[in-house]
Amino acid sequence: MSYIKEFIVSPGGKVQLNKIDPSYTDKHESHETASPHIQEHLKRMSQLQYLLYADADQSLLVVLQALDAGGKDGVIRHLFSGMNPQGTKVFGFKQPSKDEATHDFLWRAHLRVPSKGDITIFNRSYYEDVLVVRVHNLVEKKIWSKRYDLINDFEKILSNNGTRIIKFLLYISPEEQLERFKQRLDDPSRNWKISDADYSERELWPKYIEAYQEALERTSTHHAPWFVIPANHKWFRDLAISEIITDTLEEMGLKLPSTHVNMDDIRNKYHAAEQGQSINANGKTEKKSG
Ligand code: AMP
Ligand code: MG
Repeated sequence: MSYIKEFIVSPGGKVQLNKIDPSYTDKHESHETASPHIQEHLKRMSQLQYLLYADADQSLLVVLQALDAGGKDGVIRHLFSGMNPQGTKVFGFKQPSKDEATHDFLWRAHLRVPSKGDITIFNRSYYEDVLVVRVHNLVEKKIWSKRYDLINDFEKILSNNGTRIIKFLLYISPEEQLERFKQRLDDPSRNWKISDADYSERELWPKYIEAYQEALERTSTHHAPWFVIPANHKWFRDLAISEIITDTLEEMGLKLPSTHVNMDDIRNKYHAAEQGQSINANGKTEKKSG
């Protein structure tokens, strides 16, 4: 079965995250057997991106969400290394700036959605406005509870304009999170990733799970589906996400645009140039002067 089918949150369906095993690795036992598939996906992805960019008629928005240490940065580093920077953009969403906070919650995201031909990755997103905002009561319930419908409408606008949207929850266990926090403590090159809030946020795990479940249930739609990716094993996470992105690009029916120049004309000009001739206004070749 394809990972699109296996990990999609069925639109309108119930989500029970505790029924999902974050250590799941399908038929793979290690990175070794998964790696050739990941490489194959990256290669295909880069070819498809070329078509997306050339065609410049559609775009792809990839939303990455996770609890702390869920691996969003790792996904971006590994999977997007094979992409052409021209045509790829990554935006991270932090606590809104003063300016951003004077607008509606979708404003800063709308400014950054992909142009036609582009792939854009959101490292966190407008979903924080029904996740961290809800968990910490940063706005009243009567405000955040209306946001699910607003998000669906927003994604509909993008989708009607040719943007494919796929959304990933990188799902790790609390034990794996603690292990990753420990690595950050032990490895000086990762110390910078530690935040004061990491351990206090961890206490709120059940509240985050509740908030994620409602977000997934209410905003997984045909035009902007959610996928829950078992992410305790980084290599399996990369395998599943790379396959889903590749298959999605595949489904978009991308093809090279037809040329809008007269190829015979251009070929004649090329041959003339090759022989040191130029073509005059009457379409006749003549020897270049000088
Ligand atoms: P990091 O991804 O580790 O750099 O952290 C970014 C922080 O910004 C996280 O703690 C997010 O929860 C927080 N954040 C992102 N968007 C929002 C938002 N709309 N409101 C409040 N906090 C946010
Ligand atoms: Mg963090």
